[in-house]
Amino acid sequence: MGILIRNADIVTLRKGDEEPFLGDILIDEGRIQEVGGSIDTESHEVINAKGMVALPGLVNAHTHGAMTLLRGYADDLPLNIWLEEKIWPLEEKLTPEDIYWGTMLALAEMIRGGITAFADMYFFMDEAARAVEEVGIRACLCRGLVAAGGGADKSLREADDFVSQWHGGAEGRITAMFGPHAPYTCPPEFLEETVSLAQDQGVGIHIHLGETKKEQEDIKRRYGRTPFEYVSDLGLFEQHVLAAHCVHLEEGDFKILMEAGAYVAHCPQSNLKLASGVAPIPEMVKMGIPVALGTDGAASNNNLDLFEEIRLAGVLHKGVSHDPTLIPARDALEMATIKGVEALGIEGVGPLQVGGRADLILLDFDKPHLAPLHHTIAQITYSAGAADVDTVIVDGKILMEGRELKTMDEALVRRMAQRRMEHLLEPI
Ligand SMILES: [Zn+2]
Repeated sequence: MGILIRNADIVTLRKGDEEPFLGDILIDEGRIQEVGGSIDTESHEVINAKGMVALPGLVNAHTHGAMTLLRGYADDLPLNIWLEEKIWPLEEKLTPEDIYWGTMLALAEMIRGGITAFADMYFFMDEAARAVEEVGIRACLCRGLVAAGGGADKSLREADDFVSQWHGGAEGRITAMFGPHAPYTCPPEFLEETVSLAQDQGVGIHIHLGETKKEQEDIKRRYGRTPFEYVSDLGLFEQHVLAAHCVHLEEGDFKILMEAGAYVAHCPQSNLKLASGVAPIPEMVKMGIPVALGTDGAASNNNLDLFEEIRLAGVLHKGVSHDPTLIPARDALEMATIKGVEALGIEGVGPLQVGGRADLILLDFDKPHLAPLHHTIAQITYSAGAADVDTVIVDGKILMEGRELKTMDEALVRRMAQRRMEHLLEPI
């Protein structure tokens, strides 16, 4: 049965649609069939959206879902120590079962926060894909690839098999990419091989790039070029690239990103928490480099709340540049929605318009912190939060309604995640 959303304040985010308008949205067979006006039908499940704002679903363009299990495990450390002494040793012990329940916990949190699609890079990705398939969210998944430890060939084969098996899976809700972790964990031959596999499979590449000053210095010392030049010279940008962070760039690096049409996943909160710095997003936007928003993993954030990233993207660059006109409210919201969909290489999803796949959310605006209402988009960017999400629809299916998750047993997920975390901390 299709869905009729009645009396919503609709923010389409379509080019040229500046003001929201009151109306209905008709959804059938996973697609938006009508938007606006009063729609007359009796054969649809009706959602009364009076007092609610409808907008495209949020897209988390960079995360490591199952890292929810490591939330709060190691804080207040520099990135290299955090990774090498805390995170990587624990990740060595992760089992497929951990990944399944950790991803389920991430999905519960993300759906509750209005996220309808996400880009994930981690291990045992078959388990993440299984969770995504069951729960009904949309995702762009890749196996994280690190050349160290002698398992390089095996990990490349696994990544290749994963793409073969899951790209276009779960009725088209899952897409796959290759996920070389970062320039400092992927030597040249390994990256070349990854690029070649991505080319053969016709899929994109998701990578951490230019995250820290240390990475920039180490790569320059090791290869005599910046991290961006290094991966560019190895052919990375011949594919669709989703580059997380991009905090430390030299002048030529901006040009590399621009000419490649690469997408940047800006993760302001993770960059702040790990003291990596502030990405030069206004400069990128000015050059036409497309920017999406990500939370990064829950171990470095420490949540998967994209509303916090929207607000940060909207205020951080104003503050550090002493310019209150930078990254206006709509730009910040577009980074978290339509730019995110493009960054993940997802087709058919975007602004709320007839014919598009029905990935959308309803925010309950009947709240003190959202009143009075002058500008709806500014209210979403600067005042709204994850707890304001009432309803989440992906591919025409309701995943949450009235803040109740419809496709998973949330209490069970929390219980199992706690159990997996305790198991991880047991001495071997
Ligand atoms: Zn990351």
